[in-house]
Amino acid sequence: MPAVVDNEKCTGCGSCESSCPVEAITMKDDAAVVSDECIDCGACVDECPLEAISME
Ligand code: SF4
Ligand code: SF4
Repeated sequence: MPAVVDNEKCTGCGSCESSCPVEAITMKDDAAVVSDECIDCGACVDECPLEAISME
């Protein structure tokens, strides 16, 4: 399963965006959006200071 963003927690800080090796994360309306390009690596999960992105 791809990474999932909790929009209630996400502030759109952008930290996860640069951690993604396949550029699957973009910012839209102050929240992270994960695309179908996600390869489920989990790198972004460790990067988020608010635990707003997870693998489900
Ligand atoms: S799990 Fe990996 S590939 Fe998927 S969005 Fe996060 S960093 Fe990118
Ligand atoms: S690091 Fe966390 S709070 Fe920042 S944009 Fe990514 S998911 Fe949102």
